[in-house]
Amino acid sequence: MQNTSMSDRDLFLQAQNLLPGGVNSPVRAYGSVGGDPVFIQSGHGAYVLDRQGRRYIDFVCSYGPHILGHSPENITRVIAETAAQGTCFGAATELEVRMAEKVSSHVPSVEMMRFVNSGTEATMSALRVARGFTGRTLMVKFAGCYHGHGDAFLSEAGSGVATLGIPGCAGVPEGVARDTITVPYNNIEAFTDVMRVHGANIAAVFVEPIACNMGMVLPADGFLQTLRKLCDQHGALLVFDEVITGFRVGLGGAQAMFDVRPDLTTFGKIIGGGLPVGAYGGRRDIMNMIAPIGPVYQAGTLSGNSLAMAAGLAMLETLETPDFYPTLEARTARFCNKLRAVLAQHGRTWWISQCASIFHLWPKNNATHAPANYTEIKQADAHAFTPLFLGLLKHGVMIAPSAFEVGFVSNAHIDAILDEAIQAFAKALET
Ligand SMILES: *Cc1c(COP(=O)(O)O)cnc(C)c1O
Repeated sequence: MQNTSMSDRDLFLQAQNLLPGGVNSPVRAYGSVGGDPVFIQSGHGAYVLDRQGRRYIDFVCSYGPHILGHSPENITRVIAETAAQGTCFGAATELEVRMAEKVSSHVPSVEMMRFVNSGTEATMSALRVARGFTGRTLMVKFAGCYHGHGDAFLSEAGSGVATLGIPGCAGVPEGVARDTITVPYNNIEAFTDVMRVHGANIAAVFVEPIACNMGMVLPADGFLQTLRKLCDQHGALLVFDEVITGFRVGLGGAQAMFDVRPDLTTFGKIIGGGLPVGAYGGRRDIMNMIAPIGPVYQAGTLSGNSLAMAAGLAMLETLETPDFYPTLEARTARFCNKLRAVLAQHGRTWWISQCASIFHLWPKNNATHAPANYTEIKQADAHAFTPLFLGLLKHGVMIAPSAFEVGFVSNAHIDAILDEAIQAFAKALET
């Protein structure tokens, strides 16, 4: 039972006693902005409510899944109906087949897939199958990209570690870290050099096709195409981590937007309809390496469970609504333009990036161009971010507690609500 008479302060003290940092994911902590985290009681549409019933316009959207806003009626209904029929069986279900059919119909590079329970599990498993398929060990990632918390991926892993200022990660064996080569995002020359030297030993190149875990960094012209070309030349697999971009930037993901076909793709966030889910998939010849038909073992008690499959299916069916993406993008663009105007009015020379319904406010003074890589992103004035964050909170707007996180606009964020948020930004910038 919840104890509504306990103060937030006392609840946070108890949380810290029972959960490291009082949270179950470090990005939720308020360490970098100061103060105690807000405890959320509920979410409806574009809003979340705290324990005192204070309402915030929410741009966190659970870090990506809630493209329809919180507790959309059609999805919560499907979850309740499905739960009444049993949540998981340790056996095959039709829902898994229908969900796979749906994903594959929108993302043709994904000929076969496997469902798992988080984005982290998806990337870890994709790396294993890439190594099994190629018989190689090394992998390449790009600085500032986040691919979940698997050992192999934690080098220069973007927002979460950047906010905490952790250089590497304790507990990752040196041998594992050595098998990961990290290259600056958008640096075609550096990537070409790495492939020239190590290409024959590289199993996979992992990339966020639009980087959304170091603020937002769009791929430079020809960047993704060069990855594709050099992976082909050297026999390495190209893996697009579309855990954020999948079904966020369009039904076909970033791979459709940039017309580059990866060998493997990872998903998470949106495809679970707000429930824990991940998936990895791609070329049939590669996916046939996975047990029980191939020698690469990967399993999961709750993988493909009915709740996540049904919620995901209801989510994707809703996203097929004609004009869903153009409408959401237009609203986000309008909001970003107003935000730029408000910043200018308050003498801030920061940069707003936007792609589809994702945006990022880069608090860098005299910014004259969008950030192109992690080194640039880190030039943000983190001290300027804190008063903005706290001011927004005070005026009823919640963004992630880090200058390195993007914001998400959902279908529930109608123009009137976004205009309210603009007012809150104006007030927060006055302080
Ligand atoms: C969130 C995210 C992950 C990890 O997914 P989890 O479900 O948090 O494990 C992996 N890759 C990208 C690009 C992400 O944004």
